[in-house]
Formats: sequence, structure tokens, C-alpha cells
Amino acid sequence: MSERTEFEAGRPVVLRGGTVLPMDGGRTVLERTDVLVTGDRIAAVGPDLEAPEDAVTIDASDGIVMPGMIDTHRHMWQTALRGYGADWTLTQYFVWFYLEHGKLFRPEDIYAGNTLAAIEALDAGVTTVVDWSHGLQTVDHADAAVDALQEVPGRYVLAYGNIQQPPAEWTAAPEFRDFVARRITGDDLLGFQLAFDVLGDPAFPEKPAFEVARELDVPVTTHAGVWGATSDDGIRLMYEHGFMTPRTIYVHAASLSADSYHRIAATGGSVSVSTESEQSAGQGYPPTWAVRAHGIPVSLSMDTSVWWSGDLFSAMRTTLGADRSREHLEAHAKGDTVTHCGLRADQVVDWATRGGAHALGRDDLGVIAPGKKADLVLIKNDRSPVSFPVLNPYGHVAFQAQRGDVHTVLVNGRVVKHEHELLGVDLTAARRQVERTVEYLRSEMGEDAWNKGMNPDIPATKILDNPYTYTDYRSDATHRL
Ligand SMILES: [Zn+2]
Repeated sequence: MSERTEFEAGRPVVLRGGTVLPMDGGRTVLERTDVLVTGDRIAAVGPDLEAPEDAVTIDASDGIVMPGMIDTHRHMWQTALRGYGADWTLTQYFVWFYLEHGKLFRPEDIYAGNTLAAIEALDAGVTTVVDWSHGLQTVDHADAAVDALQEVPGRYVLAYGNIQQPPAEWTAAPEFRDFVARRITGDDLLGFQLAFDVLGDPAFPEKPAFEVARELDVPVTTHAGVWGATSDDGIRLMYEHGFMTPRTIYVHAASLSADSYHRIAATGGSVSVSTESEQSAGQGYPPTWAVRAHGIPVSLSMDTSVWWSGDLFSAMRTTLGADRSREHLEAHAKGDTVTHCGLRADQVVDWATRGGAHALGRDDLGVIAPGKKADLVLIKNDRSPVSFPVLNPYGHVAFQAQRGDVHTVLVNGRVVKHEHELLGVDLTAARRQVERTVEYLRSEMGEDAWNKGMNPDIPATKILDNPYTYTDYRSDATHRL
């Protein structure tokens, strides 16, 4: 494990001479600017700052200093299966996790996935992650999830979920309430939400779970507008029962009508766009081009490392691409030409930082200004031919930079990565844990099922029912989860 004594806790840090993106709502760029951090906060931003005598200096020249990125939707527990589902559709994902193999995961497997996901996020400059943790089939699983999130430095929000039971059941369990009382204690580095989906059953069986969220005063995050799984009906039920709030995060929101977008806009919630997920899995077209038209706040997310790696550089890049692609396509269909891009690079950088902070109701995150939390990223890679010239810093972050260019990361004023090396993180231990999980799953499933799961047939040789049915109101659904 790498330790650096110069970054001992409590010592002020000054990043000198970087190109600072303050994310103040404009396209502001501060050249040759210092950022001083004392305690857990940004103390000052400006040229040639005076720093306390004991401050440690980080040379940010030729680099870009931006707020730590915020991923508002990731199933961290699935990271132990990195890349396994590269050729999956959403249906195959549902079958694998919801019906066939998700139950195999033990608490230690949740721990292994969460640990690796947390390290992966930090390494890529993602300082806050909403862990949409729907593999919590017992409270022991939930304890393991939190253990991992508290061991790896970083800011996390546990979005508690359980795909093996209807939300009204698991939210009513005494051991769930006990878990909340024991583990969710107001720690600034560990937020809490409830994670469940609204499947459109007119009886609205999710209602008691919303009531629990209201009683606990925590937000709900929900997969909305997912083709074949959640639709306008779910949004309408939430709206009619008064459960759409400014703190609600709608994930994907990719196959909804204008009515639903109006309801989201009117109630102040935000949409978490997982462009890479929507493009491959099939929730619907990545919705930024539609959501923007309704003035709905956007944040970005990676969804699951079963397909994609957990870094927001690729989210920014693919989101710009998908939005512009759609804009051109719609125009061409009418014989028109787009002469000016509607979605700009600085906007996706804003969504990856300030947009995430807004979704979480945290105006102290996602910006660089005195008094804000010191969650910071320095993008700088002197050995990379892609690191210069930096002419358009927002464009550079969105289209040029990548994970390997993340030089330094601070969370809550603490340096957790420096000179491209993670500090206070035991990657070897994380690797061993993940290896044990993979070995266990593989032997439980058997080689044949393991290989078939990873290499789905082309074309599909059987028609699959929509397996996403913990409520069986849709006529003859045979699976009740
Ligand atoms: Zn998801």
C-alpha cells in the first residue's frame, strides 16, 4: 500500500498555477491560478496565493484543476464482474442478475465489488458515487456494502435496494430500520437514499416504500423510462400520489412521453443520464436532447462496470456524441442542416460536476470556490502527447482527457491520489477479494452456464419474457421475485 507522509491529515494543500475550471455556471477559465485547501474546504482561489507555512505544494502548471466528478448512478456491487456482460442487452442483464444468478452473491461478494468500484472511481477522479445497491438481499449484505464504502476514501451515497423482494416488503422489515439507525449516522461522506422502481401496476404497490422514504426524510432514486420495464405509468402514479420531489433522481428517463418530462420538470427532480448504458442495453435513446428541451437538470452516470468502466470522461464524451448525433439526425430527416451544436463541451463538464451536486442537493460540491468542500481533481500528464496544447480546457476535459491523465485527487481536503498513484488504498487486497468472488460464482454456476452467460447467442434462440416482474399484474408473468 502506498503511503505519502507529506500528505498527513490536516495539513493544508496548495495547487499552484493550474488552469482552474470553477464551474460557476459560465464558461469561466482561470489561467495560472492557485487553489488553497485547509481542512476539508477550499480556503482561497486566485493567482499567487499566500499559503500557510506548513502547506504542501502541488505543481498544477500545465494541468487542469476541476471539481471532483459525481456519478449519480452506479451498481457498485457488480464491479466484481467487470466486463462480463460486454455483449449483453438489458434483457440478458435482467435474466442474469434478477432471475438466475443475482441471488448467489454473498455479503463478501458485495464487499468485493463495492471495494473495487470505489477504488476505480477515485482513480478516475470521481469523488462522489451514488451506489444504487440493489443486491442487498439481507442486512448483512448491506453492512458489507457500507463497510467497503467506509474503508475506501471517497464520498458515497448508499442507495439501498433489494431486487429479490418487493420494495414495500424490504422497507418494512425491522432489520432494515435497525440498519438505518446503526449505519446511517449523518457522516458527511456517506449519504443515503432508497432505490427501487415503479413498474406501473395500477394498484401502486410501491406506495408504502415511498412512505418509508418520506418518513426517513431520504430521497428515492428510480429507474424511469426504461424500455420494456418502466414507463409513463410509473411516473404518473408517483405524480398522482405526491411522491415526485426535487430530490428524486430519475435514472435513464429514456423512453418517456412529453407528459412525464413535464411532470419531472414541474416537480424539480433531476435525470441521471447513463449514455453508454442506454446506447448498448436499450433503455431508450440517451435522453439529453429531449430532457434539455424541458429544462430538466441533468447529471451523468456509468450504471455498471459489468459493461463499461466507471469513469466519467467516457460519459461526457459519449453524451456529447449521442446528443449531437440525434440533433443532426433529426435535422437531416427534415432536410435541414445543423450549423451550430446545441450541446457544448462545457455543459457536459458541468453535468459531471455541478449537475451531480445539484441532484444530490449538495451546493457545497461540484464547484471550486472558497468555502466549498475540497473535492478536487488535477488533470495533468507530462508524459502524454495528448496533454498539450490545452487551448479549450472544457473541450479538453470532454474529448481529450482520460482516466490515466488524473494526476491528483482530493476528497474532503485529503489527498487520495498523487502523481498518478492512489494513496491509502490496498489494490492487492481488493484484487484477492474479487478473485475469490469470481472463483465462487464460476464454480456455483458451472463452467457451461458461466460461459453461456458471457457469450449470448446470436441471434436470440428463445423469446424471453420481460423478467422484471416482482409484481405479477402483467397477466401471466410466471416469475415473482
Ligand atoms: Zn441502473
